Amino acid sequence: MQNPIIVVDNLVKKYGNFEAVKGISFSVREGEIFGLLGPNGAGKSTTLEIMETLRIKTSGKVFIDGLDLDQSPNEIKQVIGVQLQTSGYYPGLNLTELLYLFAALYNEKINALELLDSVNLRDKAKNKFKELSGGQKQRFSIATTLINQPKIIFLDEPTTGLDPQARRNLWDLILEIRKRGTTVIITTHYMDEAEILCDRVAIIDSGKIIALDSPDQLIDQLVNKGFEKKREVKKANLEDVFIDLTGHVLREV
Ligand code: ADP
Ligand code: MG
Repeated sequence: MQNPIIVVDNLVKKYGNFEAVKGISFSVREGEIFGLLGPNGAGKSTTLEIMETLRIKTSGKVFIDGLDLDQSPNEIKQVIGVQLQTSGYYPGLNLTELLYLFAALYNEKINALELLDSVNLRDKAKNKFKELSGGQKQRFSIATTLINQPKIIFLDEPTTGLDPQARRNLWDLILEIRKRGTTVIITTHYMDEAEILCDRVAIIDSGKIIALDSPDQLIDQLVNKGFEKKREVKKANLEDVFIDLTGHVLREV
């Protein structure tokens, strides 16, 4: 791959005697939306948090934007945006105050209203974090990843627990962020979401990558092996019915 923005080479993470990540390797292109998929406990969050400099690896090499994780973790922090778990915010501060707090931590000057606008939360500027719905909390946490105008953002299950409208709204936001040139690394348990959003996905199982390709290629490979769906494929699914009946409009405002 020419000029990958992320290179992970033979990454291993042990917790005591337990090997959670067993020598995985992959590269991510600049501007790509790259998915890490896999069952609970597969090692997705561990891998993300190592790339985010938040967890110490056991062995292997990681390069982010040409920077060696072993030598330049602080420089890496400046080019990445990391989404905190939604429990990580002071619940009593309003969104503007929270953004300025984060900006101060990053030593960045920001326009909080513009940033809130970009995630469709301008009218919640004076609301406290705890007053937001699940989807709004996720959008806000994505806004915080954008504070330092990162080249790469990492999103760990950003749509888990959201209703179909909020989920689709977040897809649009992620696609918009990528359109501005930002590389996105995302984990999800929703395969429809991965199919729509991701240029390529790595499927991880028990700490190993068992497949890595575009969703389209992976599906074609399965079909070529002779796989057939048991039931006739309908032209819509229950989620389409739900969206058709309840509309695309966000309900949480
Ligand atoms: P995923 O995000 O794919 O669900 P994780 O990376 O969170 O998986 O976890 C991978 C494995 O490592 C799991 O078996 C988990 O229990 C274990 N694990 C994660 N964090 C720790 C930790 N701090 N100490 C010990 N084991 C851990
Ligand atoms: Mg996880």
